[in-house]
Amino acid sequence: MLLAHRIRLDPTPVQRDYFARAAGTARRVWNWALAEWQRQIAAGQRPDAMALKKQFNAIKYTHPDWLDADGQPWLRTIHRDAHSQPFAHLAKAWSAYFAALRAHRPAHRPVFKKKGRCRDSFYVANDKLRLDGKRVVLPKVGPVPLRESLRWPGKIMGASVSREADHWFLALQVEVPEQVACLLRSGDGVTGVDLGVSAATLSSGEKIAAPRPLRATLRRLRIRNRRQSRKVKAAKMTAGIAGPMPKGFRLPVSANRTKGARTLARLHARIARVRTDFIHKLTTRLCRENQTVVIEDLNVSGMLANARLARAIADVGFYEFRRQLQYKATRYGTTLVLADRWYPSSKRCSCCGTHHGRLMLGERTWTCDYCGAQHDRDVNAAINLQRLATGALAAQSALPVASLAATPGTAADMGSAGGGKVTPVRHEHGQQDGSGQEQNDAHF
Ligand SMILES: [Zn+2]
Repeated sequence: MLLAHRIRLDPTPVQRDYFARAAGTARRVWNWALAEWQRQIAAGQRPDAMALKKQFNAIKYTHPDWLDADGQPWLRTIHRDAHSQPFAHLAKAWSAYFAALRAHRPAHRPVFKKKGRCRDSFYVANDKLRLDGKRVVLPKVGPVPLRESLRWPGKIMGASVSREADHWFLALQVEVPEQVACLLRSGDGVTGVDLGVSAATLSSGEKIAAPRPLRATLRRLRIRNRRQSRKVKAAKMTAGIAGPMPKGFRLPVSANRTKGARTLARLHARIARVRTDFIHKLTTRLCRENQTVVIEDLNVSGMLANARLARAIADVGFYEFRRQLQYKATRYGTTLVLADRWYPSSKRCSCCGTHHGRLMLGERTWTCDYCGAQHDRDVNAAINLQRLATGALAAQSALPVASLAATPGTAADMGSAGGGKVTPVRHEHGQQDGSGQEQNDAHF
């Protein structure tokens, strides 16, 4: 099983400088490749990543764009992996774009990377690095101390070095033997999870409050942002620019502005850490204690389009929650059931199965007209999700079974078409083997 371990690095100032230059090289090569790709398409050709790489290799030590002030090819100072990998990444980005187009999912073309606006990272091939206890030996820079040692035994498949605020990280992709990767569950429960904006509600009735790191630090974030924009404004005034910046013009960057940007980046990184920590703990617990976990496959991009909900939802991190559940479910042998987003989990009474069409988003509790049961909105939704897996609802429901099984896109629909019971089938799990893995790769 392919797993990734991301470890913080403790580089020296010289190594930091190299990392920044290598990441900059990767970015610049990506931009060159993308520009060339677009030019070839415009000229009616069919670009190919490997051909593009060949084309680049032919010019990279001679073309004036790639020579420094002394006329020396500066690419020689950066290890080859940093400037050969962007071609493979670009090919992958284009095929992901076309796959999304074909599947009628929202598709995004590869875009140019801008310094300071993109993720700084570069690739190191597995045969170019060596682990030496709590150190990693990287090409061109030698040994770099690691904050912790690699968690699993296994074959290292590749690595990437990336920056987050002013810290550098090494992400190792490791092929871990199944018996090490597979973990023992502590329970065999079946749990439905309703992931809300302020809490995750389990079908047992337990509510786990989500930390709202962004809301808590939003005030500080606003202050920092304001300070930063004042510095930019001051720089513009000094340069004598009144309106918008002329195209291609670069403001001189003061030490004070760099310092402000770093503080701001640290604040953002902290917010991200608080969020990931919560999601990691929750998803591990869910997969460890249950043989089946049911979640709603939320239409996240649709919800993010709702401006009022957007910040709150992005704050909880729905995407990350599902991504982690998927790969952890594989490790614990837990079945993950994704309920279709049209599955009426919150509008159905979990006691008698009656539909309530008129439920408003603001109603937190409600009473069933048919059986008189009192419901907490979130707990009721979580129980309905759980029943999707156990099939208890189908047996109890006042509704004809077929209407439930026919809910398009649910696990029930995909698995047992027309079957009497709403039971997720094993192949659901098999599917996640693949997708969970892919998701995990996305870490890189
Ligand atoms: Zn009822």
